[in-house]
Amino acid sequence: MARLRMCKHCGVPLGFSRENSWGSDGSITQTSNPDHRVIFYEAEGMNRLLDNIAGLLGVPIDHIVIEGKRKSTYNYLQGMFSGIKLAVVKAFLRRRVYETISARGGLLGYGHYELVDFKPGRYIEVKGSNVYSLTLFSADMAAVFNLVEGLPAQITWEDRGENELLIRVVPGQEADAEMAARLARVVLPRKPGNITFERCPSCGIPIDFKGFTWEPDRGTITDNATGRRMAILGAEGVEAVFRELESELGEELSRTIVEAQRRYVVDTLQMAEVRRDPSYLTHQLALRGMGNVVRFELSRDRLEAVVENAIPPLLVAGMMQGIFELLTGKGSSCSYERDGAGSLRLTVESA
Ligand SMILES: [Zn+2]
Repeated sequence: MARLRMCKHCGVPLGFSRENSWGSDGSITQTSNPDHRVIFYEAEGMNRLLDNIAGLLGVPIDHIVIEGKRKSTYNYLQGMFSGIKLAVVKAFLRRRVYETISARGGLLGYGHYELVDFKPGRYIEVKGSNVYSLTLFSADMAAVFNLVEGLPAQITWEDRGENELLIRVVPGQEADAEMAARLARVVLPRKPGNITFERCPSCGIPIDFKGFTWEPDRGTITDNATGRRMAILGAEGVEAVFRELESELGEELSRTIVEAQRRYVVDTLQMAEVRRDPSYLTHQLALRGMGNVVRFELSRDRLEAVVENAIPPLLVAGMMQGIFELLTGKGSSCSYERDGAGSLRLTVESA
C-alpha cells in the first residue's frame, strides 16, 4: 500500500480527516455525502454484538446482516465516487478503482487488502489480512462488485492461515426482493446541536483523534488508551439490519439488542472511560457519531436521559444502561422510546 499521508500535527491520516465530518449535532457524516451517517466503533464490539444476538435468538442472522451492510457500503461508495464518471473510469482503470477502494478500507480500519486478480464481469479476487469482520467484509465486497461490475455478487472465501483470507467474488443472484425493500434507506432529518470540539489546527479533526494509532500496512486503527481496535461503520447499515431483524423476529428482538449491548459495555468498558459528568458523556458519544446527549440526570437509583439524533438508538440505549451500571455498581432495568424525529428518551432504574 502507498504510504499514507499523515497530519503533521495530530498524526491522523489526512484522507481520514477529510473523508469524515464531525458535526455539532452528534453526528459523523461522509464529507462528500452528508446524508450518509457513520459511527466510530469498536470492530470487535460489533462482532460480539452480532454473535450475542445470534446466540440469544438461536438462529443465524448472517444473510440479513450482509444484505443490510451491503446496501450501506454501496451508498458510501457512490458518495466516494460522486462527481467522477465511474463508467469512464472503470472502462480504462478498473484496477485503479479497486485499489482506491482497498486503500480506503484500510484507512477506515477494515484491514489490509490487495487485489490479486480480476476479469471484468466475471470475478475479482482479493487477499485480506486483519479483516475486521468476515460477515461485514463479505457485504463490503459484494457492494464493491455491485458498483464496479454492475452485477449482483456471490462471495466465497478461503482461510489461508496466518490471519489471511482469499476472497473471491463472482456474479450471483439478486437479493431477495422483499427483504431488500425492507432494508431500504431511511434518512432521518437531524436536530441541530451545539457540540463543539477542540480541533486539530492543521487538519481540523477533533483533537481527541491524536489518541489513536493508524497502521496503514495492517489496515488498523487502535485506541491507544484501551488497546481496542476501531473502525468507521455505516450507521444506516447497522440500523437497517436491526429493523430487518425486528420485522422478522418481532419486538422482543429490540430488547435482545439492548441487552447484548449492555453486556458488552459492562464487560468491556473500564471505569476510567465513564464519568458522571454529562458533558464528558456528550463529548464521548459525539466523537463516536452516535448522537447528542441533551439531558443526563443521574441520581442514586435512576437515570433519565434524552439523546437527539441517536443512531443506532438500540445501541445508544444499551450503552446508557451499561454506563449507569458501571457508575452505580447496580443491576438495572431500562425503558426507552424513540420518537419519529430520531430522539431517544430513556429511563434506567436500579433493579
Ligand atoms: Zn491534524
